[in-house]
Amino acid sequence: MPSPTLSLEVFPPRGAGAVRRLDGAMDRLEAIPLGHVSVTWGAGGSTSEASVETVRRIAGRGHDVLAHLTCGGQSKAETAEAIGALRDAGASAFLALRGDAEDMEGPFEPHPEGHGGSLSLIRALREAGETDIRVAAYPNPHPDSRGREADLDHLRAKADAGARIAVTQFAFEAEPILRLRDRIAAAGIPLELHAGLLPIHDWAKVARFARACGLAPPPEMDEGFRAAARDGRADLYATAIGTEQADALMGGGIEHIHLYAMNRAGPTLRVAEAMGWIPALAAVA
Ligand code: FAD
Repeated sequence: MPSPTLSLEVFPPRGAGAVRRLDGAMDRLEAIPLGHVSVTWGAGGSTSEASVETVRRIAGRGHDVLAHLTCGGQSKAETAEAIGALRDAGASAFLALRGDAEDMEGPFEPHPEGHGGSLSLIRALREAGETDIRVAAYPNPHPDSRGREADLDHLRAKADAGARIAVTQFAFEAEPILRLRDRIAAAGIPLELHAGLLPIHDWAKVARFARACGLAPPPEMDEGFRAAARDGRADLYATAIGTEQADALMGGGIEHIHLYAMNRAGPTLRVAEAMGWIPALAAVA
């Protein structure tokens, strides 16, 4: 089975200590052969300066950077400024997102003079001269989904607007990602799919985050993590889950895996080691 190409997602750290921790994590994560690193953008534009600074830091380490950008909390003029700032900081590609409400509660409300959704943002990126534009895709239905067919139509509209790659939300199994890839191909939508994989560090946090994204954590995984935590082998269990998922994605023909590293090295490195993407590690904290 050929190795997939790999990428990593980080979020802008808050405070000097968190910046140092991200640098430390990157020092270790760079053992993985990375095609690019993506940097998130806070809901409602809440991290704009920190995101630009993080793009600069990561690009300064020699990585191709995929900058996320959302529509909320800013006018079209401010979004145009953000595109310029991210590009000047070293972004070579953009992930165009609608985004959520800033407090993650309630529905997305566009800024009165802002982009109303991802399609409008893709077009703005095109107009700003960007050519490498990517978008999000949902293997399990997004809370705002109007059904599988409408989701496919929306993905087609993203491709028609200028996107070439779709990056998936994480899922707890490989199967929904493989099915989404097949539906995109069967519909003739010209989008390459990058599969998101979240190496689990803290099950309670991941389960909470998943629920906020409208994704139900599988009860057997919930029970598995409880039992593993009781026996002091939660890391081992998390590595087994991540490895099984990566293996199934690759076995299903996925060519690119995007690792949601959450600014931590250990969980991602353990999966990378088990998959043979990096040499065996003596010990990974
Ligand atoms: P869209 O895909 O445009 O829409 C969301 C849902 O509504 C989809 O199910 C879509 O099918 C449906 N929908 C919307 N418009 C239509 C339409 N016209 N017709 C039919 N259906 C429609 N959030 C952040 O704040 N910062 C980040 O950095 C960030 N990074 C992310 C990275 C990835 C890979 C993913 C998957 C998500 C990320 N998110 C991020 C979360 C994202 O902002 C939320 O999931 C948000 O609610 C949806 O944004 P979107 O661009 O995917 O929306």
